[in-house]
Amino acid sequence: MSKIIGIDLGTTNSCVAVLEGRSVQIIPNDIGGRTTPSIVAFVDGGKRLLGQIAKRQAVTNAPNTIHAVKRMMGRRFDDPEIQKIQAYLPYKVTSAANGDARVSIRGRDYSPPEISAMLLQYLKTAAEEYLEEEVTEAIITVPAYFDDSQRQATRDAGRIAGLEVRRIINEPTAAALAYGLDRKQKERVAIFDMGGGTFDVSILEINNGVFEVVSTCGDSFLGGEDFDRALIDWMLASFKEDWGIDLGSDILAMQRLKEAAEKSKCELSMAEESHISIPFIASGNNAPVHFDRTITRDHFESLVIGLIERTTAFCEKALKDGNLSTRDINKVILVGGQTRMPAIQRHVGKVFGIKPSLEANPDEVVAVGAALQGGVLRGELKDIVLLDVLPLSLGLETQGGLFTRIIEHNSTIPLKKTMVFTTVADNQTIVDIHVLQGERELAEHNRSLAKFELVGIAQAPAGTPQIEVCFDMDANGILNVSAKDKLSGMEQAIRITPSTGLSKEEIDKMVKDWKEHSEKDRISREVTELKNRIKGRMAATVKSYTEFGRFLDRDGQEMVKRAIQKARDIDPAEDSISLLNDILDQLETGAEKLTAAIFNSPQGAGTPGKGEPKEADMKELLKSALDDVKS
Ligand code: AMP
Repeated sequence: MSKIIGIDLGTTNSCVAVLEGRSVQIIPNDIGGRTTPSIVAFVDGGKRLLGQIAKRQAVTNAPNTIHAVKRMMGRRFDDPEIQKIQAYLPYKVTSAANGDARVSIRGRDYSPPEISAMLLQYLKTAAEEYLEEEVTEAIITVPAYFDDSQRQATRDAGRIAGLEVRRIINEPTAAALAYGLDRKQKERVAIFDMGGGTFDVSILEINNGVFEVVSTCGDSFLGGEDFDRALIDWMLASFKEDWGIDLGSDILAMQRLKEAAEKSKCELSMAEESHISIPFIASGNNAPVHFDRTITRDHFESLVIGLIERTTAFCEKALKDGNLSTRDINKVILVGGQTRMPAIQRHVGKVFGIKPSLEANPDEVVAVGAALQGGVLRGELKDIVLLDVLPLSLGLETQGGLFTRIIEHNSTIPLKKTMVFTTVADNQTIVDIHVLQGERELAEHNRSLAKFELVGIAQAPAGTPQIEVCFDMDANGILNVSAKDKLSGMEQAIRITPSTGLSKEEIDKMVKDWKEHSEKDRISREVTELKNRIKGRMAATVKSYTEFGRFLDRDGQEMVKRAIQKARDIDPAEDSISLLNDILDQLETGAEKLTAAIFNSPQGAGTPGKGEPKEADMKELLKSALDDVKS
């Protein structure tokens, strides 16, 4: 049974971990990073770049570089939050036929799960290389406040990436699991989690291996990106004040402002002021102009105080929902990169009346918890029970557009609940049942999840039929709904039309696309690795040939020179694995010949080669070979 990896699929950064023995290892990505920027870029030749490499080229390729796609997961195009962030995005957001938000890149629309799947695929490959085995199963974390369609979208992303998502767990719950694994005494902890895009606060009771979420609350559209945006707005206004130029519609300039804003924000968590200098950001009066300002920590805090204070009501609600006061909380744990901001730490201390603990690594603790949950599912960790809660109420639209709750928010999951409904007209044989999630009283204000059509109801006067609707929520927070007409005693077939998310056909097509791509990606990685080996081997061979080539006979010298020349002449676009392998073989044979000649010859043991290599030629070869290696 292969390992189950734990993935924190973050708005800004993602992290992957695995349980080995009783300790969790963070899996480094292909360039050694412990976290990976959640960024995907599309470049010429249909190639995709991921993570740090995608981040590095974001300024010069802004319209084709996607960041923070998590904010769009499971959301509709007309969602006011999507409309609000659009102005700040360098790429286009469009609407799919069913109204879902899509990302438009180079004339093609991608669903957010498809983009997330590319990131997951990258993390999966890193895990496979680290573990030296295929990885097919994962635990993925989501903000506690993600609703059902956002969870479904995350699960879809996993499937597209070729991962069976064994469980979706809430980020704060994962963090609590990592924190409380070895704690034996009973504790009540509050997890304050603010990452790049979302904010959650959860209260848990940890008691000797039992992790019970008491309450959870939050805003899936409040995070570090909003802090960046506040700083960008200030930068835009300052620049206009200094130069009378509005940079708002200049995509390239906006991307540079964004990078500088995030950097300065992080700097201000450590320093009292930050100097922001962006040269050549625009041109004014035929001369280039630069952004050049200093911002103090106090000033920055005044720009974002509203965002920080928005968290207060959520913390108070979480306490109230759990019938708790701040005195009942033993510890507050900070999770998510944005909680490094001192003003947030002060604020949390004020709200809960205790200084928050800084002992967990806010970037890694969620992935660690997810990996632990993977260990629980594999039976490697015993005596651990995770009891999570439903973040938002679930129910149906009933007569007059009302929302009737079937499962209340903060109910412990998994759970199953049944409610009986009836018809409103005589001889009604069909009812439309609209499943929604949210806390508002009118259905139209809540999130539509699915529409049922229950057909074939036995004809009867209005109010007589008894239609039993069952909501069944599994441990992943994923909902299954069924319906039965009790009057006829027949169980009816129901048709669920998801009003958000991807259809099965769409997912299957994406899985197919991914498989095609993953083969292409595998080949291109193999080609790159081979070319790197050839360059390394070529440089070493040139070097030893320059020194010791004279000990080879003429045939040997010709052979080595040919091998070096072939390696030098490789076309940068060459992608034939067999040809590259052949060149590498020849270089290796040449290197072996040289080693043998060196071994046999220097002190007269062998016969010196008749033809001496021309030193000037070899120097030239050595220089270009070493240049190649550097490049
Ligand atoms: P996460 O999703 O947990 O990786 O959090 C990412 C968010 O944390 C981003 O908005 C980062 O800009 C922000 N962040 C990371 N480090 C710091 C820091 N030192 N100070 C303030 N914000 C930070």
